Amino acid sequence: MRSALKNCERIVVKVGTSTLMYDNGNVNLRAIEKLARVLADLKNEGKEVILVSSGAIGVGCHKLNLSIKPQTIPEKQAVAAVGQTELMHLYSKFFGEYGYMTGQVLLTRDVTDFPQSRENVVNTLETLIKKGIIPIVNENDTVAVEEIEHLTKYGDNDRLSAIVTKLIQADILIMLSDIDGFYEENPLVNPEAKMFHEITAVTPALKQLAGGEGTVFGTGGMYTKLLAAEYCLAADKQMLLINGQDPALIFAAINGEMHGTLFSKRKQMIGGE
Ligand code: ADP
Repeated sequence: MRSALKNCERIVVKVGTSTLMYDNGNVNLRAIEKLARVLADLKNEGKEVILVSSGAIGVGCHKLNLSIKPQTIPEKQAVAAVGQTELMHLYSKFFGEYGYMTGQVLLTRDVTDFPQSRENVVNTLETLIKKGIIPIVNENDTVAVEEIEHLTKYGDNDRLSAIVTKLIQADILIMLSDIDGFYEENPLVNPEAKMFHEITAVTPALKQLAGGEGTVFGTGGMYTKLLAAEYCLAADKQMLLINGQDPALIFAAINGEMHGTLFSKRKQMIGGE
């Protein structure tokens, strides 16, 4: 039991392309619909919800009928421009069905690094939240070149979601992935590997278990999720890494059920607290 999660009022949820798209490149409408339903219901419960969503390039490739991902930066950015519009259309449609409006917030790292523009971003997000609108945040792929190519901007949306969590002083970041949590070894390599239920500090040894930097997972995967967790812990925030295939798990987790890996400075895995 993790009863302390019940007290989370402001929740940032990060969803990645692998949850939003099928492996064959088509949009997973059911996943988006389910996610919208769960997040809308969390709103109904009285929680504040902010969604950080990737997927602009993937959805753009689908919309433009591209079988291969674009190779040049202008092409990638043009595809992202198309995909972001389509993605927001889908979110707007699905959240709308459950009575919620969405607001698109596209960020670049310079915006959140510079105090005045950072304050504006916070004010905008706070105003959307106050109006009951669900902010949907993404890196502005059409201008943030390095996000796609080198890791000099936010680097990835795992990091962006951790930054947003701190910016708006959310209680928890719920990171949806294609795996149940963080394991002592990649379960694809070792199916016997055990999952961590709670982690109170992101140590160099843990980073090694994620494959470390510069491996195939260094540009995404578990390594960037651990860095996001480290950022959250330093900001005194919690992060829950959980499987995005069944967004209903978010409910169960917020209600204290043991799902995924919880990164929290305070130990919580106690029978009731
Ligand atoms: P996303 O869900 O954001 O698309 P990725 O697919 O990039 O995330 O990363 C998740 C993958 O990372 C898992 O499917 C798994 O194969 C791999 N991985 C590597 N090391 C680990 C580990 N120690 N624990 C869990 N997953 C790991």
